[in-house]
Amino acid sequence: MSKTTLLDYRNSRRKRDPEADAAPLEDGYWRRKTLTQMNEREWEALCDRCSKCCVISIEDTDTNILHLTDVSCKLFDTKSCGCSDYENRKQYVPDCVKLTPKNVPKLDWLPQTCAYRLVSEGQDLFWWHPLVSGDPESVHIANASARNRTRPEGRLKMAGLIKRITAWPAPLEKPPKGRRKRKKR
Ligand code: SF4
Ligand code: SF4
Repeated sequence: MSKTTLLDYRNSRRKRDPEADAAPLEDGYWRRKTLTQMNEREWEALCDRCSKCCVISIEDTDTNILHLTDVSCKLFDTKSCGCSDYENRKQYVPDCVKLTPKNVPKLDWLPQTCAYRLVSEGQDLFWWHPLVSGDPESVHIANASARNRTRPEGRLKMAGLIKRITAWPAPLEKPPKGRRKRKKR
């Protein structure tokens, strides 16, 4: 078994283009652009803030199957569904991985629903993605996020982590009744 934590999608070392970064996001840009072609703003907006990449996975090295636990990185704040010390996280979590257009296709532990993974595999975003729904809450409403679903790693060792392997709920396939759907982007 090996343990995987991840991420740092915000500080990709792409060239800054202030003009492009200041421009409004074009509808459906993720269907027309590759990860490499996106400007900083487009790249940032692609993250749905599900934070499933802050949850610890366990890889069975015999089968190569990844199992998601309900244990998060120690810096993850499950209530706000975000990193509690993003600026200084590398001091505490040196293996927090930086997502880049180059490494996304190689990171097999990225959740199947991760927007970067989807775009890298030529797929469209799900209805709950804020770029599609227009609502940052929709990722949580869809059961697609780690909000209020994890506890911090603490002193858990591998044996303890294995006991925390969890079947996460499948995200809702469509918006629940009463949630207005945004016009198609
Ligand atoms: S969209 Fe991907 S990078 Fe962003 S929080 Fe979700 S899993 Fe992490
Ligand atoms: S350091 Fe922060 S961003 Fe990195 S995995 Fe932990 S909670 Fe997530």
